Amino acid sequence: MKTFRERVAQGDILISDGAMGTLLQAKGLKPGECPESWCVSHPDIVRSIHEAYAAAGSDIVQTNSFGGTCYKLKSFGLADKVEEYNKAAVALAKQAIANRGYVLASVGPTGRIDESEGGDATPQDLYNAFKQQVIALEDGGADAICIETMASIIEVCQAVRASKENTRLPVSCTFTFEASPRGFRTMMGLTPDRAAREAVAAGADIVGANCGNGIVNMIEITRQMRATQPTTPIVIQANAGMPVLEGDKTVFKETPEFMASKVPDLIRAGAQIIGGCCGTTPDHIAAMARAARACR
Ligand SMILES: [Zn+2]
Repeated sequence: MKTFRERVAQGDILISDGAMGTLLQAKGLKPGECPESWCVSHPDIVRSIHEAYAAAGSDIVQTNSFGGTCYKLKSFGLADKVEEYNKAAVALAKQAIANRGYVLASVGPTGRIDESEGGDATPQDLYNAFKQQVIALEDGGADAICIETMASIIEVCQAVRASKENTRLPVSCTFTFEASPRGFRTMMGLTPDRAAREAVAAGADIVGANCGNGIVNMIEITRQMRATQPTTPIVIQANAGMPVLEGDKTVFKETPEFMASKVPDLIRAGAQIIGGCCGTTPDHIAAMARAARACR
């Protein structure tokens, strides 16, 4: 089987997976419970979610390690579990996709804010936390690091540097944008154009966007990133629409058919790796995979 890096370099359209967190909640993960701890306490459930995505047509599954830095785990009193949880997360994804696809290791924000952006973390604090996590993910056997749901360029630069300097893996980096009157911005004010440029300058091999308010916005975000990065592969993983509160539940309303109908536009705009984020399910991925295959 070709490596993930080779598949991306030859321009193949690849299908990623959909949500992990919202599916874990559906399987009983409680508010205030650490999602990554389920890699050890409920491995069969985590593996079965990966298997469902692989069966739906995902070429890529993403590990259940989004909150796997020491700072995120510390908020659950689990700061000493970084190595154990991240390695377990990769192992489950590998078992599920076997040699039919690739394991991308999810790395989310630390939850800490850099001093220069009003927080109390130093760039070195962030670097060290990402370094510890990505070393465990590579040791576990991941095919790439996928830094996601990012808003701060300082945090992104530390995450990308820590990945490039301490592993041999390709690094993907995706940001989360909101539509504002001045255009798309991350929570820390980054435009898609600047986010892509700075992530690539820091060493990212793949850039893109994830989460957000639905797949339609992603078409324009892709165009803006493509305009500034004509050759860097772009990955897009949209939520199934804007999160809506119904009673005490957050719901996502874009259907598999609707999301699939936008896949050709995303590919034309320049997206090469396409999956879903919050609220997407194996049904969404199956429909999107069919739409993407029709464009190949
Ligand atoms: Zn999301």
